[in-house]
Amino acid sequence: MPIRAYKHKHNANKNKVETVRRILKDYRKTAEKISKLQWYLFFKEGSFNKNYKINHIPSKLSERYKQTCQYQVVSVLNSYTSNRQKDFIKTVYRSSLDEDTKFILFVINKSKAWFNEKLTTAVLKDDKGKVIKELPIEKHHYKLSRKIIKQTFKKNRFPSFKHISMQLDQKVAKVEKRKEDKAKEFDWWIKLSTLEKGKPIYLPVYKNSYFEGKEGIHLNFVQINEKEGNIEIAFLKEVPKETSYLPKTNKISIDIGLKALFAVNTGDLYGKQFYKQLKYYDKIITKLQADLQRQGINPKGTKRYKELNRKLKEYIKNEINRLLNRIFKTYQPKEIVIEDINFQNSDLSPQLNRLLNRFGMKIIKQKLADFEERYGIKIIKVNPAYTSQTCSNCGYVDKRNRKSQEKFECLICGKKINADVNASRNIGVRSSNPMKSQSRRSVLRMLVRAYLRDDKHYACNSRAREVILGNRYFICFHEPLKITSKEKS
Ligand SMILES: [Zn+2]
Repeated sequence: MPIRAYKHKHNANKNKVETVRRILKDYRKTAEKISKLQWYLFFKEGSFNKNYKINHIPSKLSERYKQTCQYQVVSVLNSYTSNRQKDFIKTVYRSSLDEDTKFILFVINKSKAWFNEKLTTAVLKDDKGKVIKELPIEKHHYKLSRKIIKQTFKKNRFPSFKHISMQLDQKVAKVEKRKEDKAKEFDWWIKLSTLEKGKPIYLPVYKNSYFEGKEGIHLNFVQINEKEGNIEIAFLKEVPKETSYLPKTNKISIDIGLKALFAVNTGDLYGKQFYKQLKYYDKIITKLQADLQRQGINPKGTKRYKELNRKLKEYIKNEINRLLNRIFKTYQPKEIVIEDINFQNSDLSPQLNRLLNRFGMKIIKQKLADFEERYGIKIIKVNPAYTSQTCSNCGYVDKRNRKSQEKFECLICGKKINADVNASRNIGVRSSNPMKSQSRRSVLRMLVRAYLRDDKHYACNSRAREVILGNRYFICFHEPLKITSKEKS
């Protein structure tokens, strides 16, 4: 069951906020140290150990705090290795290894035994428990498994604890209900241990009725984070998977647009201010960068530059999540078709385009994966090549169809439509054949062929023939076309 955090308003005064921020600072430092130790254990002994003795790790935190911290670190590391376990399966599955070796590797991977060599045989049983296959696991199998899992580690950085929130259990953060008749304006106290022994602080917290009403199991954890000089407090609930999801729409397709961030096939545009805002950030960041460089200062080392970039990233993240949530709520689709990667805007600096392609795409993917997991929505990614130049009405592909950034007008059928909406419709059409690993050229060839195959479009219309003869995409079909024109005329 997924665990979700629900923010609760608090009324901690400045002093208390400062005390909590000091704890958080040391908590993060300690977490980094524990994580290093845990990785050492993992590679040497084969697994993490959440109960490892850590008295020797220097920290301002009490031993109880350190233990709480260690639990959190190990749970993050375990979920990291679980994800790599999935990558491992994909790699082995696609490899050309023989079936037996694959099977043995899967068995090692299933118990995360890459480094501990605990297993000696790989046993395959049928539904009734009868042994079908039994193979010895040898040294070289482990060696190979380590090579594969290390590859996945290389592609995915180890989790960092530099910016984590604290997930505190009862040992250090006790949640108590407010006593009747006293201090009426809030509902809970969190009794929080501090860096000073025997001197806890009390954080007053308000009730969150959404959290109260949400079905699930209230976990005895308090999550504390800092944000812009203040602290954020959240309670956790283990909520059941949303199995009751009933789609309202069968399929929607989304184009990552240039004028608006998302264009949906229905004609709706989302995030019309997105690029304007990005351009604004881009301008001040580029200018600041130039100014600093002129003074011989490396921008990356300055507070102002870092702060601006942090704000920009936060804006991108919030906007993407907000807009995708809105799209989801509006359509409640069964399937979402979206282009694979295409996040380019020539109005923005190369630097910002890079950020959009890496960071922006990552946020989009995460959000869609979340929909997939929570509601079972099917996500289909398709090759976006030529979706902006193809007519979603008749299928004719021509660079000249695109009148401007925003306007699309088909030279053959005359369809006029918002360019991004047109692209999103083409993306939807590709859901049955996503053409994911095909080059742009081969996509174009297919589009041209598909168009010509349906000969009602050109054979009986001389104006259409003229248009096609002026289109370089159709060059290899020009000769036969000319002949048909002569025959007909
Ligand atoms: Zn058309």
